[in-house]
Amino acid sequence: MKPAFPFIITTTIALLITSPSFSQEMGLQKKNTNGKMIIEQTVKAYGGEKTLNAIDKIYIDYKTTIISRGQSRGTTPPWDTIIADQKEAIDFSKDLVITEYTGQGGGSKVSIRTEIEGQSGHRLDLYSETSAPIYNTDFQSLAGQITRTNSTLLLKQAIKYKNDCKYLGEQLYNGKPHHLIQINPNNEPSITLYIDKSIKQISKSERSTDNFKIEYFFGKYQKQDGLLLPFQSSYSVNGDLARTMEVEAYTLNQPVRDLFSKHSTFTNILGDKVTPPATTVLDKGVYWVTQNLGGGLFGQSSLFIEFKDYVLMVGALSGARQRINHIKNKLGEKPIKYAIISHHHSDHIGGIQEIVEEGIPILVAKAHQGVISDSLSSKDKANIVVVGSDKSFYDESMRVDIINIGPTPHSIDFLLVHLPKLGIIFAADHFEIPSNGPLPPQSENSAFLAKLIQENNLNVTRIIPSHSARIASYEDLITVNNT
Ligand SMILES: [Zn+2]
Repeated sequence: MKPAFPFIITTTIALLITSPSFSQEMGLQKKNTNGKMIIEQTVKAYGGEKTLNAIDKIYIDYKTTIISRGQSRGTTPPWDTIIADQKEAIDFSKDLVITEYTGQGGGSKVSIRTEIEGQSGHRLDLYSETSAPIYNTDFQSLAGQITRTNSTLLLKQAIKYKNDCKYLGEQLYNGKPHHLIQINPNNEPSITLYIDKSIKQISKSERSTDNFKIEYFFGKYQKQDGLLLPFQSSYSVNGDLARTMEVEAYTLNQPVRDLFSKHSTFTNILGDKVTPPATTVLDKGVYWVTQNLGGGLFGQSSLFIEFKDYVLMVGALSGARQRINHIKNKLGEKPIKYAIISHHHSDHIGGIQEIVEEGIPILVAKAHQGVISDSLSSKDKANIVVVGSDKSFYDESMRVDIINIGPTPHSIDFLLVHLPKLGIIFAADHFEIPSNGPLPPQSENSAFLAKLIQENNLNVTRIIPSHSARIASYEDLITVNNT
């Protein structure tokens, strides 16, 4: 690099005399040169370009702490935390990425392995022993997530973009001067690296999308096989700490599939293919509208219950407007009197804004009023009606009881919807079974629900989920809790 500088400076001086715009251009180029130079120095501190480029396969074993904001049992901090085992692996030359997450929280436990090779992938539920295809995915998007939480992988990526990087200047971070360098990966938001000026380590990075500013923090660096690796990462979303990851071990350049436990028999189940709303008539006047917006394993559903003069809606996952419009075609102009909101979790209030914009008041537990109100635009807040402990709706043809069954293992307050004459309950998140295939193992939530039904002698034959496309029978609940 060094011999180039005198040439650039001499040329700049010559051009300065003739055109002022050239001096600005040269200033920019000098900044890029600085950025590139600092990336090269940083690469050296991490073990050199050859060592970084030699990472073809990487397997990282993390102990992860997730701050369960928006998914805690309560509505105010301190938020629940989930301790999880997380394994992440990339095979760059095969375009293969595997992640495995095993954790427990919100009254249920999950162990999910995601494998994506090139453009196709599937998700294994290691507890239910099911396999679901994942649509609309590719190697790049999942590998990108793994890369962003690991500064060594991030630097390996930065090498590719060093010629177009932008030097943003110097800033104090944790009391130490840092260089700020912006890299611009293809078709992706730019990433700003905070590089410690003296030791040339990445302490932090930043990435912004339309609604989110994500800050990643890196520390506890150690050398392994001549490579500098962070043994701690964490990130915050819009200033709130979301996840802390401690590295237990790195395995480099070993066939990654061999590093995950072997499983033989998996039942193939439906994946997350996008589907428009569809209605299942469960009984006279009871309509279950399901759809799948994609992006996750399960779909979104709402229950519509018809009375003589009005309709009650239950369940407010995102896509609510589509489901409302779909059912309106069937029920005509009969008004939807209320939409009942089971609990305050972020996914379960994701469709509320759409519901109130349709002019439908929402019925919520008193404890959830604040969170739900905060999620609405100011003019829509008036549409919230609070339920005390319970409330019933009935006429000669239909009866619906709304019961606050909290505290449950999932939420301190929870509105269960019971249709006592028909033996139907809507029990979002307490018993969700896969769309097809075997039943899941027992969870605190399913045990709680079974006990609740027995102790209160509730007439229940069918349990309506909110995320699954399959209704569970009462026998399913008992089977799960007895095995
Ligand atoms: Zn929930």
